[in-house]
Amino acid sequence: MGERVIPTFELTRNYERIRQEIHEGIERVLESQHFILGKEVQDFENEVASYLEVPFAIGCASGSDALLLALMGLGIREGDEVITTPFTFFASASCIVRSGARPVFVDIDPRTYNMDPRQVIEALTPKTKAVIAVHLFGQMCELEEIAPQLKERNIALVEDCAQSFGAWRTLDGAPRRGGSIGDVGCFSFFPTKNLGCYGDGGMVTAASEELAKEIRLLRVHGAGQDYFHDKVGLNSRLDALQAAILRARLPHVEEWNRERRRVAERYEELFAQAELGENLQIPLEAEGNYHVYHQYVVRVKRRGALQEFLKERGVGTRIYYPRSLHKQRCFEEYLASGVVCPESEKLCEECLALPMFPELTAEEQERVVTSIREFYRG
Ligand SMILES: *Cc1c(COP(=O)(O)O)cnc(C)c1O
Repeated sequence: MGERVIPTFELTRNYERIRQEIHEGIERVLESQHFILGKEVQDFENEVASYLEVPFAIGCASGSDALLLALMGLGIREGDEVITTPFTFFASASCIVRSGARPVFVDIDPRTYNMDPRQVIEALTPKTKAVIAVHLFGQMCELEEIAPQLKERNIALVEDCAQSFGAWRTLDGAPRRGGSIGDVGCFSFFPTKNLGCYGDGGMVTAASEELAKEIRLLRVHGAGQDYFHDKVGLNSRLDALQAAILRARLPHVEEWNRERRRVAERYEELFAQAELGENLQIPLEAEGNYHVYHQYVVRVKRRGALQEFLKERGVGTRIYYPRSLHKQRCFEEYLASGVVCPESEKLCEECLALPMFPELTAEEQERVVTSIREFYRG
């Protein structure tokens, strides 16, 4: 074909836009020679707390650690049950096993791909101690019905916001950002996330001071004072270098999310013109949601053949996710027999992530959609 490959994601175009600010931040840290926690991380924590409108934010080493720290901070342990979705990245559920508790999977809402809140209520038992709601692909889970019911029963609500930095949802007439609804919010700054650093990084937001304190303690080996350990915690800190990179990037995230939404809008227009009927379904933005399109995931017929066809034409695609978590071998021993999540399983067969990043051009998108049209309509 000779045409340039369109990747599902790429970072170099973004780096070109902010190179100067990034270099200044890195230099500031190098000049200070202070690399672990300290002012740079504190400043970033304060900036994120203010952006998300949450009282407390605690930097840590990754999104996976953020989830584990959250569960440890909430006192989740052996004998407890934690409910989550089977259609998500592995870390949303592995943290449950790592905390000693048992994961309980409830099926998804096929419209939004997010956990179905009504099924959460049906799955509650006296052992349920927490629910992890994942705001998948950039869109918030609809939690307003269940949040008060969980609170009433003293069940913690954890938001996995790894894919939804900056997303919001209108609740009681006002916009509320992901991470500000539950007891804790967990964020990842993995390079490809909406707000990414240049390595691993993560953050926990907390609604109460008590919980924030506990999590701060747990990220430094449970030591309130150096070498005096109140708890057995983790070593899970955010680097000052990553914090500096994130501080350079944070002021732009709003604009980049708007650009992602523009990309999604263009896909919608192009797919409407392509008239693919039942062959392809675009993702839905639920009413009241401000979707930030971490991924643009469509449902398609004949996925394997389509993916191969697109690859030959230089269009990159990915499958998020090919296997539902309730079907993963590593969770077998923790699950009750006969757990079924048919909507999640069906989506695993049909989902396909198309190129999505703020700098994706209209021409590239046209090539993506034209290629898909060619596949279905010749
Ligand atoms: C990326 C991701 C995580 C884990 O974040 P890491 O920083 O890679 O550890 C957790 N949950 C979801 C939904 C994710 O997409």
